[in-house]
Amino acid sequence: MSKRDYYEVLEISKSATADEIKKAYRKMALKYHPDKNPGDKEAEDKFKEAAEAYEILSDDQKRARYDQFGHSGVGGNGGFGGFGGGMNMEDIFSQFGDIFGGHFGGGFGGFGGGGHQQVKGSNLRIRIKLNLEEMVNGTQKTIKVKKMKTAEGATSKTCPTCNGSGAQIKVMNTMFGQMQTQTTCGTCQGIGKVADKIPAGANAQGLIKDEEEITINIPAGARDGIQLNVRGKGNDAPFGGIPGDLLVIIEEEIDKTIKREGDNLHQELYVSFAEAALGTKKEVPTVGGKVKITVDPGTQSGKILRLAGKGLPSIDSYGKGDMFIHINVWTPQKLTKEQKEFFEKQMSSGEMIAEPSGKEKTFFDKVKDLFN
Ligand SMILES: [Zn+2]
Repeated sequence: MSKRDYYEVLEISKSATADEIKKAYRKMALKYHPDKNPGDKEAEDKFKEAAEAYEILSDDQKRARYDQFGHSGVGGNGGFGGFGGGMNMEDIFSQFGDIFGGHFGGGFGGFGGGGHQQVKGSNLRIRIKLNLEEMVNGTQKTIKVKKMKTAEGATSKTCPTCNGSGAQIKVMNTMFGQMQTQTTCGTCQGIGKVADKIPAGANAQGLIKDEEEITINIPAGARDGIQLNVRGKGNDAPFGGIPGDLLVIIEEEIDKTIKREGDNLHQELYVSFAEAALGTKKEVPTVGGKVKITVDPGTQSGKILRLAGKGLPSIDSYGKGDMFIHINVWTPQKLTKEQKEFFEKQMSSGEMIAEPSGKEKTFFDKVKDLFN
């Protein structure tokens, strides 16, 4: 799409004066302002196009380059000089303060600041460590949180400067004549109220450092790094506003025995030489409680048993991961005299030897199996 000529956009002649450019831009900005054309994409584009044209033509140097080289002289078709990629709405509105004064912004939806603000307390952030079981099954934690609370006996009154409106109106002389500018009240910072009685120990907003026991419900299926939002449990707002939120960040406690890999869990199981040879039953911990598993006679070290569905519930499907038990055969390190004699006899008789049949699965086969 080719860019329209900037003079054409603002509907002015090539010899327009700086004053004429400003007036033309103001007309366009008012006509295509998004608040006047809600949801109208074409108006929004025209609004942005006018802002861009004004940005170039209001700057003597940029205008001279544009007159000589066209769009390519001020940044080409992709963007334009100094903005690398076009203006966003915020850039445009921030420009208004200079051109139209605060009234324009304020009058069109609050871009210029001012007006009564809903007071909200600040948010608090804490971290909670959970073990795998708590993360999988959900849990409830009660913790003490340090926070700002409204001090007992603190009272407030209507701000005498702004009479509670939170805004101050100033009359300014601008190039378009006299205009009203609305700014945030400097006395109450827009709250509309100021402290009346401040109890000892409280700050200027009647807040005091305190501690509160808060019970946090952690839903099942939490993951490391997720954030829970406990509404209204952050710092109190001054003068009866809405308290902030308590943001709880979940941290996974490192489990020494169970390792997590996505939705799957892994753990090592050590069995004795005799258990591996004769077979045995063992109990292993899982997030759903202990599970009994069977170690077959003749089990080799490195065998992996899969407990289907004993992993973590999947976040993006209804499925569950699996638990993998990695079997390690423990070679005895201290032998009694009798044991030593027994093994020596076995060795010399040639009966207890390693004799792989070739059908044993290698480490790489096992890894491959896990993904099938
Ligand atoms: Zn005020």
